[in-house]
Formats: sequence, C-alpha cells, structure tokens
Amino acid sequence: MTVFLVGAGPGDPGLMTVRSRELIAEADVILYDRLIPPGALDGARSDAELVYVGKIGGGPQMPQEEIDRLLIQYGTGPRTVVRLKGGDPFVFGRGGEEAQVLRAAGIPFEIVPGITAGISAPAYAGIPVTHREHASGVAFVTGHEDGTLDWEALARFPGTLVFYMGVKALPRIASRLVAGGRSSDEPVAVIERGTLPGQKTVVSSLSRVVEDAAGIRAPAITLVGPVAGLREEIAWLEQRPLFGRTVAVTRARAQASALAERLRGLGAATVEAPAIRTQPLELTLPPLRDYDLLCVTSPAGADYLFTHLRDARELAGVTVAAIGPGTARALRAHGVDPDVVPERAVAEGLIEALAEFEFSRVLVARAREGRDVLPDALRARGVHVEVAALYETVAQPLSDEAREAAAAADYLLFTSGSSVRFFAEAGGSLSGPKLVSIGPATSDVLRELGAAPDLEADPHTPDGLIAALLADR
Ligand code: SAH
Repeated sequence: MTVFLVGAGPGDPGLMTVRSRELIAEADVILYDRLIPPGALDGARSDAELVYVGKIGGGPQMPQEEIDRLLIQYGTGPRTVVRLKGGDPFVFGRGGEEAQVLRAAGIPFEIVPGITAGISAPAYAGIPVTHREHASGVAFVTGHEDGTLDWEALARFPGTLVFYMGVKALPRIASRLVAGGRSSDEPVAVIERGTLPGQKTVVSSLSRVVEDAAGIRAPAITLVGPVAGLREEIAWLEQRPLFGRTVAVTRARAQASALAERLRGLGAATVEAPAIRTQPLELTLPPLRDYDLLCVTSPAGADYLFTHLRDARELAGVTVAAIGPGTARALRAHGVDPDVVPERAVAEGLIEALAEFEFSRVLVARAREGRDVLPDALRARGVHVEVAALYETVAQPLSDEAREAAAAADYLLFTSGSSVRFFAEAGGSLSGPKLVSIGPATSDVLRELGAAPDLEADPHTPDGLIAALLADR
C-alpha cells in the first residue's frame, strides 16, 4: 500500500498540518522518529501499529538500512503506512533517500511537507529569516559535515545562514565563517527546542557565540546574519502573559486538555496530571417529558445525558438549566440552548437563578457523588425532585512522570474537591507549587488535607482560574 512520508513540524503540536493529522488518524502502521511533537500520535487509531525508529535511548540512531528494510516490509504489505518525521521530511530528514528506496522497490508513496525547524524556531524567537533590508536569501546548511562544505562560498552567501545539527560544530562554524570573510560582529542566534515549551534563545556575534551559547543543547538551530539582530524588536513569545510558567492541570483528561490548551495559548507550559476520570453508570433515564425542569450540573453530565437520550423531542417544553458556562457550552454542542445559566457557576448560584421560575417536577442530571445542595433547596420549595446519577468520578493512578512533573510545576490547578482527594491519594504532592482552587468547596478539601489554597478563582469557572493566574504576577 501507499507509504506517506509525513513532516510533523518542529515540535509545537499546533504546527502540525491538517493533512498530517488526517493521515495519522487513518494509518495502519506509523514509523516514527524521536523528534516529533509531544502527543503527535494521540490521534492514531487504537489498533494502529506504532513503530519507533529513532535514536535508541539517546544513543545511536537506528541504522538507515534497517529503517529502509522496515519501509519496504510494511510498504509491500496490505496496510497504509505513515513514516512520520520531525520538521519537513525533505529538509535534512532523509525523506529524499527513503522516497528513492520506495520508488526502486515499486512501492507507491506520497510526500506531506512539514514546517521545518530552520524557519519556525527563528520565527518563535522573533527572527525573520529574510527581510527586505537585511537578507535577500536564506541557506539551509548542515552543521554535521565538514569536508563537503565550501566555507568560503558560505561566508560570501548574501543572506541568512541557518545551520541544522550544529551544536557541537558551533566553534568550527564561527571560526570558518570569520576566516571566510564574515565580520566577527555579525549577529548570531542559537535557538534550542524551538517552538517547544522551554525554548531558549541566545543572541550573540560570531566572535562571542561559542562562549555565550555554551549552555545550549541539541536540538538547536544556529542562525547567522543581520536578521538575528531583529529579535530585540520582534520577540513576541516571551511577552505572552503566562510565559515562563508551568501549570499542572489535574482534571479528568477530556476537560483537562481544553483547559491546558487555553493555558498554552497564553504562553504557559502545561502538565496534565489527571488522577480522576469519569465513568458512565448504568441507568434507565426516565422520560424527560415528565419533568418541567432539567438541571445539568457539569459538562460531563451534559455529554452522558445525550448518550441516553433517544429522541431530542423529549426535551420539547422542558426548561433546561445549566450550572455554568462550561455546561451550557456542552449542552449547546448537543443542540440544546439552556434557558437558565447562573452568573455564579455553583449550586448556590443556580438556586438563586431559579428563584424566579415556576416548576413542579425537576430532574437533576449529575455525577453520583454530586452535592445535595441543589436538590435539597428545590425540595424545600415544595417541588418534586429526582436525581439521575449519570456517571461517577473514579480515581486513576498517576504515572511517576506525571507526579514528578506536577510537583515541579509553578501552579497546581484543582477544579473539584474530588480531584484534590484523588490527586493526594495517587501520591501527588500538595506542597511546592502554588495551589489554585476553582472555588470554596474545592478549597475546603485542600484545607481538610492540611494544605491551603494560594489562589481561589472568582468566578468559580475555568475563566476564573485563568484570571487568577493572570492576576498573580
Ligand atoms: N527534518 C527536520 C530536521 C531534522 S535534522 C526539519 O525539517 O526541521 C535535526 C536537526 O533539526 C536538529 O539537530 C536541529 O538542528 C534541528 N531541529 C529539529 N527540531 C528542532 C527544534 N524544535 N528546535 C531547534 N532545532 C530543531
């Protein structure tokens, strides 16, 4: 079957192409390198065969002949193969060589370009590789091979030089270019882990860069040319409000990812450490048309509700209340625009908001372990209330890696009391990072466990959490 030679971009998962995501989702077999973005394979089918062909434990790279052999072996089989590489497959990625091997073996292939590190790492550092006034060309050069490079020609090249694989070769690059006639004052930028959390940039000159960039480790791009001087003016990454801060999110995976994505959008590095997950409960949902008010108290509750609902018309004429904006969003995703959404996203807020409504039979759709504040308050109004427990939240073990990463974070976010409990039970540490709680109920559980929240969100929503982080500077 067809082999797709696919570039996965430089590291930021948001820089993967739509086409690469589609192919990863469809592939039967994925042969992947070490330098692919974190989570790049998350969208792969659960029955896909994932074959690692990168460096073995930081040691030597799997020999190219072995990779070629695997490409032919899988490519002649009946399954769709994605060969996933960092950056662009044809820029120092041996994509050309692998395409030749496939052609010689009569195996059909397609090439999916990716965003190469030599452009994107500088872009994230605020350095344009070309510029009308400063560089009318750009050359991509391997820092790896010495013998085959014409250093004098490179030194004379009228534009930006971008070196890949050049960390060890930095002293040679600097001295040969100066020997070839480039000014020793020429600006140089070295960018480590470009587009990834922890990207590091050093701007220096040809004469000083070896000393200034001594702390830089691979993977890094070395860029030589006047455009490196523009970083001072154009740098943007470091100006985002949460840049340089690591935030650990402890909610269940599905919701954690959405929150983590928003945090990354503000420049934070994120760690996902969910010690909790939701699990559907078996139940027969009573006919919804028997009620005049339906209260949904969490986004997960909204999602599970619709797994039970056979016919949307059952909701016709039923007033629908959501506990907060997140739940309202989840309901809208299922085609139901709630009638009531309180300003304060807690049970007490919903009770207040419902005060002006008339109803006689209420169904509360929620987690089994939910608080009884809402049903009790409604019953106190003399209303008939039933509770449908759609799911439960259960503990999930934390990996050692997640536990350590959370402990090293600057902030630890809790969005429910149960996530605090499960996090602590899973061995998560409540000391070290600043503890950020979504609201009073969550803060109470923290105190119960001998920890004190450093920040409490207001409003008690993910927006409130983010606002609390932004205000803490
Ligand atoms: N095909 C890839 C390059 C592979 S060669 C591409 O198009 O980007 C590996 C080299 O790429 C590394 O030694 C380093 O110089 C560079 N590189 C890859 N990812 C990088 C990153 N995130 N930041 C800086 N340099 C990176």
